[in-house]
Amino acid sequence: MVRRRSKHTRPARPLGAHHAHAEDKGDGRWIVRTVPGAKAEKEYRCPGCDQPIRPGTPHLVAWPDDPGWLADSGLESRRHWHTACWQRRR
Ligand SMILES: [Zn+2]
Repeated sequence: MVRRRSKHTRPARPLGAHHAHAEDKGDGRWIVRTVPGAKAEKEYRCPGCDQPIRPGTPHLVAWPDDPGWLADSGLESRRHWHTACWQRRR
């Protein structure tokens, strides 16, 4: 009897890292994570257009891969962006 094991031997993805990826912009490398509308529970101000991101709006959050000397952690530099505004950014 032959068993197909591939589905069950594959390691699970770590929670939280599922949607994160790196993007290279003009000012360095950023880590970008998408935020689905169901998870957007607060209102944020988009630094690209200076307009609010309404709760329930799918958008993304980005932070520098290398925070440098400004912050102990890149997580402190997180910014919420409209998806379109981030994609316009160079
Ligand atoms: Zn925007």
